[in-house]
Amino acid sequence: MWNTIKSFFLHLLIVCLLTLFTQVGGIIWLLCLPLFYFFFKGIKSKRKRRLAKLLSFSAIYLLFTIFLIPPLAKWQCGRVPLPIWSNPNLKPHSVFYYCILNHHYVRPEMKTTAENVAKKLFIKNPGTVLCYLDANFPFINGYPLEPHFSHRDGKKLDVALHWQKINNGESIFGTPGFLGYGVCAEPLSGEIDMEPECKGQGNWWRSLEKNTAELFYNKKKYLFDEQTSAEMIRLFANEKNVRKILLEPHLKQRLGFGKNNKIRFQGCRAARHDDHVHVQL
Ligand SMILES: [Zn+2]
Repeated sequence: MWNTIKSFFLHLLIVCLLTLFTQVGGIIWLLCLPLFYFFFKGIKSKRKRRLAKLLSFSAIYLLFTIFLIPPLAKWQCGRVPLPIWSNPNLKPHSVFYYCILNHHYVRPEMKTTAENVAKKLFIKNPGTVLCYLDANFPFINGYPLEPHFSHRDGKKLDVALHWQKINNGESIFGTPGFLGYGVCAEPLSGEIDMEPECKGQGNWWRSLEKNTAELFYNKKKYLFDEQTSAEMIRLFANEKNVRKILLEPHLKQRLGFGKNNKIRFQGCRAARHDDHVHVQL
């Protein structure tokens, strides 16, 4: 009895975590349960049985992700995956986190916009690759990609700012951070700093990603590439489809977008936007 209850809660936890991170993984896990029961119940060793389940689930999840989810997403809510390797000018910061976990779905107009910007950016700054972060899950309008609660309709996309190595001025792909988020071009002295005001309004999580990311890279080794980042934001702002771009006020000012109404502060309730740019249609 106790084992059945334990097993139920373990499966529930797995389904919740997979749903949180991949949207579809929990359902795929449930679909795999009969298979686990019929094919692996004869395996005596607990460790071997768990390994068999993990491997078979991973294989089935990958098959779904590669072959089944793209056509179903197009049919269900008109979303398409952003390129993974097919466009040399537009790539994910992490193939595993953003693509295998299905965080890279957008409406076709957003895909075209991102590809246009990536192409123009590459022409202006040869060698520059546009790095994307979280977009949207494949299914259901209104279903958010946590922790970005507005990423729920296929019209939102986060892209990384651009960075260089201090020692040789070499541009790097994306940011030096693990998943791309949290590497901040912080306010310089004399610039508008929203941190005290937002903290005063009770936003304790505003710099959570920054503080976490800084544990995993050496801030002193990298320099914010203002010129390439400004060029990328300008190209997005010039796209007709783009209605709003979220950026911290100090970067809006520093990069010369003071009068651009498309580029706005996200407000104190959201995470900071000097580590990435949020683009929406
Ligand atoms: Zn966003």
